[in-house]
Amino acid sequence: MLLGLKKTVTHTRNIEMSVMQCPICCERSGLNLVEVWKDYKLYNCPSCDVVFSDPMKNPGAGWYGESEMYMLGKVLHQKAAWYHNQFLQDKKVYGVELLDVGCGTGIFLKESQRLGYKITGIDFDRENIRIAHEHFGLREVFPITLEELIASYQNKKFDVITFFEVLEHIDDPNNFIKLIKTGLKPGGYVALSVPNRERFLDPLGKGDYPPNHLTRWNSHSLTYFLEKRGFEIIKIVTNKINTDELMGYLRAKIRFRIAHKLVQKGRAYNDPAIICRAATLMKIKDTALKLVTMPLAPILRLLKLQGGGLYCVARFKPVVSKPLALTPDRVRGKGNL
Ligand SMILES: [Zn+2]
Repeated sequence: MLLGLKKTVTHTRNIEMSVMQCPICCERSGLNLVEVWKDYKLYNCPSCDVVFSDPMKNPGAGWYGESEMYMLGKVLHQKAAWYHNQFLQDKKVYGVELLDVGCGTGIFLKESQRLGYKITGIDFDRENIRIAHEHFGLREVFPITLEELIASYQNKKFDVITFFEVLEHIDDPNNFIKLIKTGLKPGGYVALSVPNRERFLDPLGKGDYPPNHLTRWNSHSLTYFLEKRGFEIIKIVTNKINTDELMGYLRAKIRFRIAHKLVQKGRAYNDPAIICRAATLMKIKDTALKLVTMPLAPILRLLKLQGGGLYCVARFKPVVSKPLALTPDRVRGKGNL
């Protein structure tokens, strides 16, 4: 149950009035029921415009470890994504110490290190961290939670904290951003991405539903969320559909289920070689789809349709404490200035 509150729901046209509250802005009234998906309900908050799941519960590391999508992703995604490149193209302008939360196999950290950042990464998936160590030679990467990192790094603060495609999985976004702020230097930056819910094509399918994604964002709701928590938006951009995105869409729609069966077999026999074979098949499929989509590149550029990426950089504005009022005693040097 959301935030442990009791719900009393009454139906009024398409709007469900309840005592449940929005996990982002805490609004209780006028929450619009958008969709019912299995045991979940998706609501849109009229106040901050986020879409959130009820119940809002992260399924835990075990669920992600078993997920076919993430299993293949570890083998397939060996290059920086659009949102990574948004950050990397700014070069090294966000300080020195960088923490990446949900660092995956470390592709982005490796590229950041090349730019001169001193990198630290965390991911709950031990296999991801193993790949980051062995494949990318990264040292400061740990299979721990943000809470554990903050507790162990009490005196260390970061210039920039990145979290790409993470926020939509978090079941308590307010506590998450509070932890992020604890780990940031005053005036430090966050750089993040989420799926853009106003995208024209939907390559995510059921991957965009709970328990995988618990919130859905657009530029407006993401700006609201960060500004209300003391951040100043430096940059917020969405991408336009390109051939990569069209390829991802076709990959999700055209399924022969051969790779799926191989993953199931690999899981049953606990054999990574079979999972790799499934990933190779996916790569072959991607190459074929690329050949189909490449001639469409000029048309896609002309259409300028909204893509699935939403990227943002924001600066943490520390609260400026009021200067002490100078009483006559203090001015004369008798006070404890
Ligand atoms: Zn709200």
